Amino acid sequence: MKIYHIPAAPPLCTNTFLLIGENGKAAAVDPNADAARYLSLLEEHGAKLTHILLTHGHYDHVGAVEALREKTGAQVWLDPRDAAGGRLFPFTTPDHAYTDGEEIAVDTDLVFRVLATPGHSPGSVCLLCGDALFSGDTLFAGDIGRTDLAGGDPAAMRQSLARLSAAVAEDVRVLPGHEDFSTMERERRHNPYLSGLS
Ligand SMILES: [Zn+2]
Repeated sequence: MKIYHIPAAPPLCTNTFLLIGENGKAAAVDPNADAARYLSLLEEHGAKLTHILLTHGHYDHVGAVEALREKTGAQVWLDPRDAAGGRLFPFTTPDHAYTDGEEIAVDTDLVFRVLATPGHSPGSVCLLCGDALFSGDTLFAGDIGRTDLAGGDPAAMRQSLARLSAAVAEDVRVLPGHEDFSTMERERRHNPYLSGLS
């Protein structure tokens, strides 16, 4: 399994990812860069995009979803509470809802475990794939996502962080929706929002 980091253009600069499994099946996480960038990587590797997995529904994580779904037929996964429509949650027609704890198998070596982590938005999830945690806007390097936007919930965020801290192993890489990457070990030690939770 290979992970390609595809940052979206400024000013949003969302971290987005394309993952390609050993049999050429691929998943896009929060595709918000130009759709052509995912499509050219897929073509270069002879891979087929089968899953579009959204950590949440905010406008800066979903920009290329419709174009990629149309071009590839990939199925879009998103908690329906984050598909409300409007400026903040513009994408409204996911193909699948997440079930907390389920495993989504994209390829033999590309399996995502879903961890429901509401707080930044009602439908936020973190996706654990091998030794990588796609933490969306829930957990950042040294910081956490905002809880003051519509649907945000500080108490739910605290519970979600405690859950992540307890459930995710130290050597797992943390790949957030914005800014720097980290590891679970570093976050447990240095992130003030995780200290004292578990
Ligand atoms: Zn967000």
